Amino acid sequence: MITVDKEKCTGCGLCEKACPFGAITIVDKIAIIGDECTLCSACVDQCNVGAITIQRKKIEDVDLSQYQDVWIVAEIKDDKVRKVSLELLGKAKELANEMKQKVCVLLLGDNVKRFSQDFSNRGANRIYVAEHEALKDYYTETYSSVVTGIISKYKPNIVLYPATINGRDLAPRVAATLKLGLTADCTGLSIRNGLLLQTRPAFGGNIMADIICPVTRPQMATVRPNVMEMAPIQDSNNAEIIDIAVKVDLQGVKVKTKEVISGTASVCGIPVCEADTIVSGGRGVGSKENFKLIEDLANVLNAAVGASRAAVDLGWIPKSQQVGQSGNTVSPNIYIACGISGTIQHLVGMKSSDIIIAINKDPDAPIFNVANYGIVGDLCEVVPLLTKAIKKKLSEN
Ligand SMILES: Cc1cc2nc3c(=O)[nH]c(=O)nc-3n(C[C@H](O)[C@H](O)[C@H](O)COP(=O)(O)OP(=O)(O)OC[C@H]3O[C@@H](n4cnc5c(N)ncnc54)[C@H](O)[C@@H]3O)c2cc1C
Repeated sequence: MITVDKEKCTGCGLCEKACPFGAITIVDKIAIIGDECTLCSACVDQCNVGAITIQRKKIEDVDLSQYQDVWIVAEIKDDKVRKVSLELLGKAKELANEMKQKVCVLLLGDNVKRFSQDFSNRGANRIYVAEHEALKDYYTETYSSVVTGIISKYKPNIVLYPATINGRDLAPRVAATLKLGLTADCTGLSIRNGLLLQTRPAFGGNIMADIICPVTRPQMATVRPNVMEMAPIQDSNNAEIIDIAVKVDLQGVKVKTKEVISGTASVCGIPVCEADTIVSGGRGVGSKENFKLIEDLANVLNAAVGASRAAVDLGWIPKSQQVGQSGNTVSPNIYIACGISGTIQHLVGMKSSDIIIAINKDPDAPIFNVANYGIVGDLCEVVPLLTKAIKKKLSEN
């Protein structure tokens, strides 16, 4: 609990300036602390007269019943709602239904209210909109302080973040500031005994760990793109919109964007995470030069080029194209694995693809266990033949 000693407070405003969450206002020369306060103690350190004190609750004292609803933190990129946000919404709806709570979306940015519809028509009950020019581009400081303040004020029960570059940066900051648990890269989420059961691979993907956070709220997790089903469009479209007044001290923002360079574009120009078709190469491709065969097939199919970690480690293709546990999780319509053995670490990143085609010279390669179609043969012969045949077929149409 934070208290201001009215006898001591001079209303100097140092605490108001120091508060990164915009939680303090000076009214009649007294500091008034708002609900956005996260007890970070920045104001205590600044107060020259010792007027502000914080008494910390023990974790067991937190009243968990105050925390309600399942939230997702939406991500907007290139003026579009990222697909992963709709995937999070799909899972959040399932969890919220089970607990008979509301499913809510936190939309942050500049001029982002117009995206509310994308969530409202997919079943969100409530959309919190936090708009500010300082939120136009993602910065760790601004986003984390705004989200931390909002969470402290509205007290959600569960918060899900996309395991994107931004989400992976934001969620741990929020968790550390609020002293909460956070499970990264969940592949499964469910409710058990009223708690969020957060499932993720552990020990190199050899076991699946179930993690719970019984004593802190909100329960928080990041979820990789292409792991959950998108929330489908439905008839109802009546989410409640709540505008949140965001206070950001623009003078205090230390980082400014000069140029944005996308790190996810594939060799073929299609990001591997968002491609409908992926042609992936592994160690069996044999050399960097041979990757041209994979790129040629990808080009005729208008596909992205993917790779196993072995191919990435050998320097044949950039890390941004890696599929698997420590790379991208993908879920395309068609995944063509060329010279990839099919270890568990690769499979976890692509096994939810609709159709898997494997080309491998070893008939016992584990990739054939998950493949819908398999070609046993040397990829250096098979892949050019396929490219030629598809090119011919396309020119006939
Ligand atoms: C913590 C951890 C995280 C990891 N994360 C990932 C990850 O994200 N993604 C990932 O892919 N791996 C990951 N790995 C590595 C993983 O365990 C494997 O080492 C890797 O996937 C093997 O890549 P590969 O299938 O290309 O190579 P290999 O296992 O060496 O398989 C090569 C295959 O090519 C076939 N082949 C050879 N020549 C030809 C040819 N001319 N024509 C046709 N077929 C041919 C062979 O029969 C073989 O099946 C991770 C490992 C660890 C420990």
